[in-house]
Amino acid sequence: MTEILEPREVPLGGLRAMSVRRSLPQRQRSLIGAWCFLDHYGPDRVDETGGMMVAPHPHIGLQTVSWLFGGMVEHRDSIGTHALVRPGELNLMTAGRGVSHSEVSTDQTTELHGVQLWVALPAAYRDVEPAFAHYAPPVVHGQGWDVQVFVGSMLGSESPLEMFSPLVAAEMILDGDASLQPDVEDGFEYGVLVDFGLVRVNGEEVKQHQLAYVAPGEGLLIEAADLSHVLVIGGRPLGEEIVMWWNFVGRDHDEIVGAREDWMAQITDNDGTVTDSSQIHDGRFGIVTDDHLPPVPAPALPNARLKPR
Ligand code: MN
Repeated sequence: MTEILEPREVPLGGLRAMSVRRSLPQRQRSLIGAWCFLDHYGPDRVDETGGMMVAPHPHIGLQTVSWLFGGMVEHRDSIGTHALVRPGELNLMTAGRGVSHSEVSTDQTTELHGVQLWVALPAAYRDVEPAFAHYAPPVVHGQGWDVQVFVGSMLGSESPLEMFSPLVAAEMILDGDASLQPDVEDGFEYGVLVDFGLVRVNGEEVKQHQLAYVAPGEGLLIEAADLSHVLVIGGRPLGEEIVMWWNFVGRDHDEIVGAREDWMAQITDNDGTVTDSSQIHDGRFGIVTDDHLPPVPAPALPNARLKPR
């Protein structure tokens, strides 16, 4: 059975607060494979939303997968990376034991459109060294469809980037009346996000901005009744419980509390006020190279202990 998941609108913060459609995690579903977070945004006019202006913030226990459909974003991180995120090119940041980064849309960008995904690192790899990688996948052409596979392998196209569990991600454009039935990997579950178009997934209608969930062993048939633009993610179920809070993926409450304390210690003065960008102390999360935005303080922890799910 195909399960239809609705996104919820979430403001990204900042003065004019660009908002995103968050499809993962949600109450019914925390993960698809190891994919634990899926934000879908735009197309937004930057002169209306103010664009993307995400100041330095920390991550642990995950990889960030930035994939744009339109516009450009400048990425800076504490590994020393300064990279442009361009449409059709993957920027992959592995947080591992700790990294910090910022993401700001470029001045030339008039419209922003894309997805931001996180992958939970399996317990055995969650303390790996932070890393950054870039990959511009080829376009695979078929009968009435074009596909770019940017994570894992599908339709004969394979991404060389290192992931830590079996995963796949691809952007697809289908003409009206085109259909696509990629080979599915053993034991994979899949998600199909519709950016625009008229799409059926395994016979079930999926409307614009909805995410269809396909359970392991069900196959994957994508049919378009009109020009359609979709994102497909998939993977083997992680099989581990995680705690997700703010920008952290951990295994228990205390690990999250520790990460929060480490970040706040780096960005606060002795009197507890948040420093400006030039005064950040070095530590677990490093210092974002050449960033001039004030760092993002962590929100307060909830009163209850965070529970794995
Ligand atoms: Mn981030």
